[in-house]
Amino acid sequence: MPDKPTKSEMVFKGIAASPGIAYGAGFVYRKSEVEVPEYQIPEEKRRAEVDRLHEALIKTRGQISAIRDQVEANLGQEEARIFDAHLMVLEDQALISETEREIETTGKNVEACFNTVSQKYISAFAEIDDVYMRERAGDIRDVASRVLYALLGKTAESLSEHLGRHVVIADDISPSDAASLDRSSALGLVTASGSKTSHAVIVARSMKIPAVVGVHGVLSEVATDEDVIIDGYEGLLILHPSEETLERYGHIRKEKQVFEQRMMAAVGEPSVTLDDVAVPLRANIEKEDECQLVKDHAGEGIGLFRSEYLYLAVPKVPDEESQYKTYRTVAESFGDLPVVIRTLDLGGDKPMTGALHLFPHEDNPFLGFRAIRFCLKHQDIFKTQLRAILRSSAHGNVQIMFPMISGTGELRQAKAVMRECQQELTAEGVAHNTDIKVGSMIEIPSAALTADQLAQECAFFSIGTNDLIQYLLAIDRVNDRIAHLYEPTHPAVLRVIKEVVDKGHAAGIKVSVCGEMAGDPVYVPLLLGLGVDELSMTPPLIPTAKYLVRAMTMADAKTLAETALSLTSAPEIEYLCLEFYRSRMSAKAAD
Ligand code: PEP
Ligand code: MG
Repeated sequence: MPDKPTKSEMVFKGIAASPGIAYGAGFVYRKSEVEVPEYQIPEEKRRAEVDRLHEALIKTRGQISAIRDQVEANLGQEEARIFDAHLMVLEDQALISETEREIETTGKNVEACFNTVSQKYISAFAEIDDVYMRERAGDIRDVASRVLYALLGKTAESLSEHLGRHVVIADDISPSDAASLDRSSALGLVTASGSKTSHAVIVARSMKIPAVVGVHGVLSEVATDEDVIIDGYEGLLILHPSEETLERYGHIRKEKQVFEQRMMAAVGEPSVTLDDVAVPLRANIEKEDECQLVKDHAGEGIGLFRSEYLYLAVPKVPDEESQYKTYRTVAESFGDLPVVIRTLDLGGDKPMTGALHLFPHEDNPFLGFRAIRFCLKHQDIFKTQLRAILRSSAHGNVQIMFPMISGTGELRQAKAVMRECQQELTAEGVAHNTDIKVGSMIEIPSAALTADQLAQECAFFSIGTNDLIQYLLAIDRVNDRIAHLYEPTHPAVLRVIKEVVDKGHAAGIKVSVCGEMAGDPVYVPLLLGLGVDELSMTPPLIPTAKYLVRAMTMADAKTLAETALSLTSAPEIEYLCLEFYRSRMSAKAAD
């Protein structure tokens, strides 16, 4: 470990969100909003404002052309095409001459005038009821902010462009920022806000990036390049760690490595309890390049493909062909094992941030225009995705899952759109599995309460505990101020899970859990005892879950669940689960 620290050590407590220890220089990431100044320009200087506009356009053209060439070299011509569209926006004579006119008539500075004109175009395009035209609104928005940055002499900061090896420290990380994180750029992640089930954290966990969230006031204390340790097990950020602390963490890191090696040693073994009950452990993925990770951790197929990540941080809605290629690659990677592709779950904390701005501001986005609600409204986008998934079903055991279903009404509508797509493909002679399995996420209390009805029209259920808990307990899953009230072991949560399992089983369908609860080894025995058939989790969590499954009996898990159901408070149930977990882990270690 490195040189003697000079400043005194400070310890911040947050929420342990993704396990692991990271040590390195901090990178303070502040997402900058463009603030557009507005002031009057004397008449004789207005010509110079117009000149500034043209200089900014030239500078922006240079930037975009450079990115375009880089993207073409790294990703190919198709991906680079979007930047041709951006270059065309820069050539748009209407935008340029209207800005010039605005400078002349209002006498305001060029930034203010360019902003007024570009906003007018963005709104006009955004309102057109045609996906292609709406995408142009996104192009203009993107280019306009680059021009404004150029006028203001600033550079837009983006995480993906920051390629040093740092611990990223931010107020918040959006899912699209998270999608551009990777282990070579981020040693660890610390945010002032957020919670265990926010999507940036889910991504961090799947990439084995240690994370601590909810560290209030952190940004005012730490500066870029200062040394930090983050402890993703205990939820600590240690600024300017002392030599003693560095040494202690050196030991902790070694101990954790030994534990991980122990878990990985049994990774190839079957996932079966001591009394011979098989428990399929599947993987949650966000992108196709995680398939290898799933295999490395012996995931039995994909229980949840969060397909919306294909739509985040990209400049345009992915077309049918590119989606088909992605789904097909994943399907083929797993042969006969299931690959459950969840249709778009955009909205909530995952609004589309690329070129397509179809998400107006909402005061309660988690109760708003999200997932299936968005898809049923934007059927052009929905159908493109469904056709791509259906086509991929000719190449593996692909299954479709609809998110945020509130009852049979939405399920029927979604299935009707899917049937339209099936009919189209059949008429076109395109191969697809005509008997594809269709399931529903159970993550809204109304769906849980009508699980008996839904089960008649579904091939499987997957309980999304992340949302189910937030909607059941009225706890915003990303609000760190109430994160301590987000209780997976609340008696109401247990009752609902049991109810859904029983209703599913009565109709003869399997019930899995794909929320973060499924990957927490402390809750694994409880969920299995409640009757859950399968679990799906971020790939790195699979080995520990398997180790535990192999250390327990289903009979004991059922007793555990029965006892838990008789208790009346979350901490009591939590303690019961923790004791069960500890006893089984230490019994197996002593074997
Ligand atoms: C869930 O809600 O539990 C779930 C798996 O979906 P997401 O986390 O993507 O909302
Ligand atoms: Mg959900």
